[in-house]
Amino acid sequence: MANKTWKKPTQIIYVNDCKYCGKEITNDMSFLAFYGGTHAHFDCDRKEYYKQLIEKEKNEKRLSQN
Ligand SMILES: [Zn+2]
Repeated sequence: MANKTWKKPTQIIYVNDCKYCGKEITNDMSFLAFYGGTHAHFDCDRKEYYKQLIEKEKNEKRLSQN
């Protein structure tokens, strides 16, 4: 009987540079892959999403004041 112990892969592979912060993304991180071959950290994408929401809100407020 073979006594094989499955080990979690410990090798960390470089994926790409984050399109938001420019730092490297490795396969042990949470990241997103975009159409066109770009990647971003999950956290960076979330931050960017909220930043855009805030910007949008600001623009809408500015427009409603005019
Ligand atoms: Zn990032």
